[in-house]
Amino acid sequence: VYILAIESSCDDTSAAVLHNDKVLSNVVANQKIHEEYGGVVPELASRAHQQNIVPVVHQALSRANIDKKELSAIAFTRGPGLMGSLLVGTSFAKSLALGLDIPLIEVNHMQAHILAHFIKEPETPMPSFPFLALTISGGHTQIVKVNSHFNMEVIGETIDDAVGEAFDKSAKILGLPYPGGPLVDKYARQGDAKAYPFPKPKVDGLNFSFSGFKTSVLYFIQKETEKDPDFIEKNLNDICASIQQGIINILIDKLKKAVKQTGIKQIAIGGGVSANSGIRDTLKECEKRFGWQTYIPKFEYTTDNAAMIGIVGYYKFLKEDFTDQRITAKARFSI
Ligand code: ATP
Ligand code: FE
Repeated sequence: VYILAIESSCDDTSAAVLHNDKVLSNVVANQKIHEEYGGVVPELASRAHQQNIVPVVHQALSRANIDKKELSAIAFTRGPGLMGSLLVGTSFAKSLALGLDIPLIEVNHMQAHILAHFIKEPETPMPSFPFLALTISGGHTQIVKVNSHFNMEVIGETIDDAVGEAFDKSAKILGLPYPGGPLVDKYARQGDAKAYPFPKPKVDGLNFSFSGFKTSVLYFIQKETEKDPDFIEKNLNDICASIQQGIINILIDKLKKAVKQTGIKQIAIGGGVSANSGIRDTLKECEKRFGWQTYIPKFEYTTDNAAMIGIVGYYKFLKEDFTDQRITAKARFSI
């Protein structure tokens, strides 16, 4: 089975070709344009997708070294995401499937972040069912109980900001450029994580909240820079380490609760924030201390990418779970 997959939910245009559960190509065009604005501008994203989609699909096919006539089906991201962005990928996928007279397969982006763990790679072991998936990205923060490929339930999610936003907005308060998450990680490595303890927000159950966290960072920085205008510059490493630690504490606290509640100790991490070195180190510690088993896919499959759309497409193809041409994009789309 050869699947061409298309992802255009946010600001990256991506196309991939899979042969069964193996990735032959995975092309991602990043949109640099948003950096100047300090965040994704939906109008610009949609326009950039229109420019990128044809070359990106061509490149995916040529890197995979296959002709479009060999494709078995086209998989695409139906949602959730930015409507204008989703429409570009959806319309393109529909017309290509129609033109080639092959099945069309809709994919839920959040389900794809989770099933990315089933892309076959020699170095990465796959979780077995049931497992808990923690998806942490610029737009999402969720804990999902995964019973099988297509039986998943969200057992916790953020009630306001996503964890990536907590990193990026805290970084912005420190005057760091967007997206600041990777920079916070970099400075944190040299800093003392206990220097400035930030409070954990009180949220019931397995849900998360990060907007209060960001506010406490803001007040703290305002107070300290009033006393010493050079406070940030002098203590950047310690501040970043403390912010990162605060965020990790919130995540691990809820993970522990989820493990206790479900009795499941297999935890699969996905989303761009899983690149964070502090989070990775902490998970390794949890493996030793609590007997957890944690899984993180190859980095290129954790951020937004079409390969993860393709693996969902492959499993749906096996079930002959195809999509009608009347399908439309869906900005809000739960798992
Ligand atoms: P979504 O996947 O929800 O549509 P997105 O495309 O913004 O959102 P990703 O590309 O998965 O999300 O992740 C980007 C986010 O990850 C940004 O907020 C970025 O700051 C954060 N991030 C990336 N690397 C790191 C890191 N090493 N430490 C902390 N945060 C990081
Ligand atoms: Fe995503």
